[in-house]
Amino acid sequence: MALLQFISAGLEKVAIPTTVHSDHLIVSKFGAELDLQNALIEHHEVYDFLSSASKKYGIGYWKAGSGIIHIIIFENYAVPGGLIIGTDSHTPNAGGMGMLGIGVGGADAVDAMAGMSWELMCPKITGVRLTGSLRNSRWTSSKDIICKLAGILKVSGGKGKIIEFFGPGVESMGATAMATVCNMSAEIGSTSCIFPYTEAMGRYLASTKRADIAKAANTYSTPLLTADHGSDAYYDEVIEIDLDALEPHINGPFTPDLAHPLSRLSDAVAKNNWPAQLSSSMVGSCTNSSYEDLKKVQHLIKQAKAAGIAKVKVPFLVSPGSEQIRATAEADGIFDDLRDAGATVLSSSCGPCVGQWDRTDVPKGERNSVISSYNRNFAGRHDSNSATHSFVTSPELATVFAYSGDLRFNPATDAVSVSTSPSAGLTESFRFEPPESSELPPAFLPGELRYQAPTLDNRSVQVQIDPGSDRLRLIRPFAPWQDENVHDMPILIKVKGKCTTDHISPAGPWYKYRGHLENISNNMLTVASNAFIPPTDTRCIGHAIDPETRKVDSVPLVAQDLKKRGVKWCIIGDHNYGEGSSREHAALEPRFLGGIVIIARGFARIHETNLKKQGMLPLTFDDPADYDRIAEGDRISLRGVQPGEMKPGKQVTMHVRRRDGSSWETHLNHSFHAGQIQWLRAGSALNHIKNVQRA
Ligand code: SF4
Repeated sequence: MALLQFISAGLEKVAIPTTVHSDHLIVSKFGAELDLQNALIEHHEVYDFLSSASKKYGIGYWKAGSGIIHIIIFENYAVPGGLIIGTDSHTPNAGGMGMLGIGVGGADAVDAMAGMSWELMCPKITGVRLTGSLRNSRWTSSKDIICKLAGILKVSGGKGKIIEFFGPGVESMGATAMATVCNMSAEIGSTSCIFPYTEAMGRYLASTKRADIAKAANTYSTPLLTADHGSDAYYDEVIEIDLDALEPHINGPFTPDLAHPLSRLSDAVAKNNWPAQLSSSMVGSCTNSSYEDLKKVQHLIKQAKAAGIAKVKVPFLVSPGSEQIRATAEADGIFDDLRDAGATVLSSSCGPCVGQWDRTDVPKGERNSVISSYNRNFAGRHDSNSATHSFVTSPELATVFAYSGDLRFNPATDAVSVSTSPSAGLTESFRFEPPESSELPPAFLPGELRYQAPTLDNRSVQVQIDPGSDRLRLIRPFAPWQDENVHDMPILIKVKGKCTTDHISPAGPWYKYRGHLENISNNMLTVASNAFIPPTDTRCIGHAIDPETRKVDSVPLVAQDLKKRGVKWCIIGDHNYGEGSSREHAALEPRFLGGIVIIARGFARIHETNLKKQGMLPLTFDDPADYDRIAEGDRISLRGVQPGEMKPGKQVTMHVRRRDGSSWETHLNHSFHAGQIQWLRAGSALNHIKNVQRA
C-alpha cells in the first residue's frame, strides 16, 4: 500500500535509502520449503509487483524467504546512532543496535521516500535502569524484561514516550537480546525504545561484516552513544528492574500486558478457567528468532533427548528470523535436532505470528491455549480463532512447555514425565536445567541470496499490475473535505472494549488483498464488538445496525450500503482505539467506505496519525464518560472543524441528536497541528503533497 501511494505521488525515485520486505504472506502448513514454494506460486502477482515497483523507484527488495523485516534490518542496516522509520510497529527492534527505530504508517513512509520531512510529536523519555545481571539468571531472559515492563506500563503506558535503557544490567545482554526488548516495546504503545551502545553491539556488527561501523561506534561511543543518566539526566520518569530478582514471565491471554510471573501462572490459570492443556507451542517472530534463541532451544532439546524423551508433547513450530540465521542454524545441526524432536521448522517469515497459519488441528470456536515466543497475542491473531488463548514468553519457556504440554508447568520446580517402558507403564521424571547458549555463531553463513539491489537505470521498467487483478489496484485520490458531511452524521458502530488494528482490519487470509483497497475493505471491523447490539446476541461481534433501515448486517456490508446511498458516517471508539500494528488499512478502509470521523476515548499513536494522513478526523471525548451517553440511532454534528474555525489545540463541539428528537452537547479534542489540518482539507496527506507540488 505504501508503494501504491508512492506511485500515485508521481515521483521518479525514492529520495532516501528504502527497502521493501516480503515477510507476511507465507502460510505455515507443511514446513519451510513447501510453504515457501506454495507462497511463490500463490502470491507471484504481488511479488512481481513489489519487485517491479522496487526496480522502478530505486528501492532494494528482499524477496520472500529472505527473512522478517526487523531481522534483516538488524543484520544489514541498523547502526548505532541512526534513525530509521518502518511501516511496521516493531521497527523499534533496531534499538538493540542503539538505533532509533520508529513504526509509522505507509503514508508517513511515503513522505520520507519522497524526500519530505517526517514529523512526530516530541516524545517524553522513560528511563529504565537495569541492575543485576542476566548472566546470573537461570530461566530469566531478556524477554522477561519487556514482559515485566508491559505489566507495569500496560498497552498504552508508553504512548508518546521513548523507552531508554541504562544501568549496569545492560552490559549483561547480547545485541539480539536487547533487540528482543526493543521489539516488544511496541506492545506498550511506545514511540520507540533504545539501548546505549555496548561492546556486544560491536561484536554483532563485526560478526555481520560491519567491523568498520563497530570501529566508528567504538571511537564515538562516549558521549554520543551512551545513555543520558547521571548529573544531566533528562528522563521524565525512571523505572528500575533488578535482573537478579526478575522472574520468568508469561503474558496473556488476549493482551500482551497481562503479565504473570511464572510462579503465579498456575493460580491464574485455575482462577480464570483458562484451558491448561496446551495445543501448540511456537518459537520465532521478529522478537525471538535469533541465533542465540535457537541455540537455547537446541540445548533444551538435547537435554530431553539425553533423558530419553524423544519427542515434544504438543505441535512445536519454529521459525528462523532470516535466511542467514536459517543457514547458520542448519549448518550447526540445530534444525536436525529440532526435527528429530518432532518440531516443524517453518520458513524465515512471520507465519503464525501474523495469522498465516493453516491450522486444522483445532476447530474454530474451540477453546484452547497456545504459547509462543512472539510479541502479540490478541484474540484470533494466530489462527483466526478468537477462542484460542495465546500466551507470550521466552523461547526457552516455549520449548519446555512443548514438552510439558501444560500451562501450569514450572521448569524451575517441576519435572516432566519420561515413559521409560511404555509397555510396562513405567515412567520416570526429568528436570530441565536452564539452557545454555552462544550470543553469536563462530561465523554467520549467508545462505541463499534473496535480495534484489536497487536498479540504477529504471527507464524501461514497467510496474506490473494486472488491471483485472483482485489483489492489486492503483489508488484513486480521496475527495477533499466537505463541510456538509459533518452535519447529522449517523454512527456506523459504537465499538466496545479493545479494538486493535487486528480488530479493524483482521490479518490472516485477508493479507491477500493488502494491495486492493476495495477487496480488503470487506474485512472492516468484522471482529470488533458493537455496543449497540447486546452481548447475548452473537451478532454483537462484527455486525452493525444500519442507522437508516435498522437492518443488522456485517459492518462492511452496512458501510457499503451507506456508501452507495451517499451517506457519510462516523465511528465511536473506546480506549486506545487502533492499538497494535501500524496497519494503515485500518485507516484506509473506513475512509474508503465513506467514514469521515472517529470519536474515541483515546487513540494509539500510529493509528491516529494514519487516520489523519488519510483525511479522516480522529477526535477524543473531553469527558471520557460521554462515550457511555452515545445511543443507537444518535446523529452527530460537529462545530469547530470548518475551515477558519479549526485551530490547533482548540476544542470541537459535538451536538448529539437522539432518535426521539432530544439533544445534548459536549466537547471533543483533536491533536491536529496547522500542517495536518491542511491534510484534512485536501482529503489526505497525499492529496496535499500533490497540491503543493502543483503549486
Ligand atoms: Fe512479522 Fe509478527 Fe514481527 Fe509483525 S510482529 S513483523 S507479523 S513476526
